[in-house]
Amino acid sequence: MAQDILVVGELAEGALTPTSAELLGLATRLADGGKTNLVLLGSGATGQAAQAFAAGADRVLASDDAAYDQYRSDHWLAAVEATLDQASSAVVLIAQSMVGRDLGPRLAFRRGSAVATDCLRVEQTPEGLRATRSAYGGNAQATYSFNTSPAVVTVRAKSQDPIAPRAGASGETVALPNAGAARTEIVGREAAVSEGLQIQDAPIVVSGGRGLGAPEGFRVVEELAAAFGSDKAAVGSSRAACDLGWYPPSQQVGLTGKVVSPDLYVAVAISGASQHMAGCSGSKTIVAINRDREANIFKAARFGIVGDYKAVVPELIKAIKELL
Ligand SMILES: Cc1cc2nc3c(=O)[nH]c(=O)nc-3n(C[C@H](O)[C@H](O)[C@H](O)COP(=O)(O)OP(=O)(O)OC[C@H]3O[C@@H](n4cnc5c(N)ncnc54)[C@H](O)[C@@H]3O)c2cc1C
Repeated sequence: MAQDILVVGELAEGALTPTSAELLGLATRLADGGKTNLVLLGSGATGQAAQAFAAGADRVLASDDAAYDQYRSDHWLAAVEATLDQASSAVVLIAQSMVGRDLGPRLAFRRGSAVATDCLRVEQTPEGLRATRSAYGGNAQATYSFNTSPAVVTVRAKSQDPIAPRAGASGETVALPNAGAARTEIVGREAAVSEGLQIQDAPIVVSGGRGLGAPEGFRVVEELAAAFGSDKAAVGSSRAACDLGWYPPSQQVGLTGKVVSPDLYVAVAISGASQHMAGCSGSKTIVAINRDREANIFKAARFGIVGDYKAVVPELIKAIKELL
């Protein structure tokens, strides 16, 4: 069934974020011949229209007003509402980002509709739209349907595939009004200090847990990540290891840490508690190394090695170095 979809895009340093392209891919599949609209706000928005058309947008509604550069609920909400008034859409897709977490529920409330957050799967069925997210710390999946419109869905990064770029694609560009006076003032902004590849962006995440026995255990985990390549792999940690002070809290994976969905997640000496799995169950492939064959992590792992990490990981590093 053809339907129009609205994607709320985001810019990073003036460029369309990879997650926005993923949402455009999802929107194109859901639109089924309907229009894919994209709203883009902030410096350089209009300049990204060509990239957006290549990624699947049919119409880009944009404002280059720098007042949109930093997310403010009142500015963005008004702009997205104005977009919906011009480009009525049955479904609104927003990334499960800092923007989406705030904007999704606000928008649904303002339009008298409903929101499903942090979804991993969104599909059109004969009975209507279905949005699925993980629940109970990754131990179950919850599927939502909507009986109000527009259906607002926030979608987890890397859970959707972008379309193959449509070279030379073109579409319609519509100028949105500048942001008006803000009701909020941003008094400061502090970037978290974290060097190198971020665990949320890395295609490979190698994480260590309390079973490493000591902070020194993380050196071998870092060596394993380095063997994959420092441009590909980042190091994560379970909360137990962070709480012990063995690794920085910025690297914690899980319910109260970061959510990662890499192509490959290697869990070294991690038991696989539900709160940890909530942060990594969206990984494409999980490999577990644990000396307890009954460890919960093996239930989620595609490949498992039962053994002492001190013996297993150095062998793994050797094998990877030979292969790569
Ligand atoms: C509200 C709440 C929120 C939470 N949020 C998070 C979160 O965000 N992230 C998170 O990770 N946890 C979180 N937790 C904690 C979670 O419940 C677990 O306690 C934690 O994940 C356990 O960490 P672990 O697997 O490293 O340690 P353990 O559970 O102690 O497991 C260590 C594992 O290492 C194995 N092992 C031991 N020695 C070796 C060896 N030499 N070689 C190989 N394997 C070995 C053991 O067999 C065991 O399976 C949360 C808990 C609560 C209540």
